Amino acid sequence: MPDCLFCNIIAGKIPSKKVYEDDLVYVFEDIRQAAPTHVLIVPKKHIIDLKHAKPEDAEIIGYCQLVAARIGRERGIEDGYRTVYNVGPRAGQSVFHLHLHLLGGRDLKWPPG
Ligand code: AMP
Ligand code: ZN
Repeated sequence: MPDCLFCNIIAGKIPSKKVYEDDLVYVFEDIRQAAPTHVLIVPKKHIIDLKHAKPEDAEIIGYCQLVAARIGRERGIEDGYRTVYNVGPRAGQSVFHLHLHLLGGRDLKWPPG
């Protein structure tokens, strides 16, 4: 999607601090770090958000969670981290290309604000 911020980051047209990449996902540091670890796990396929995901997207949605778990392990934050798909503007979604937030490295409140 030519006008999509995250498609352009994946394509290298917009700079990012890359954490990990494979055939399916691109992972980079969130520009506005909300926690000591705050990375975005982004499917290379342009999916708008969870509510637009189709049954054939189930695997990539779960795969993003497993990538997050591995990064959580590597970063030593397994005492507490959170993975979040924000869905819709009222939940704070601001980029309409599916992405999983991985947040950790500090105490996280529940329920979230
Ligand atoms: P959301 O609000 O769930 O849609 O998440 C979008 C996230 O993308 C926010 O946490 C932003 O800080 C982050 N973000 C926006 N632009 C960039 C960028 N150019 N590089 C890295 N992260 C970004
Ligand atoms: Zn996109």
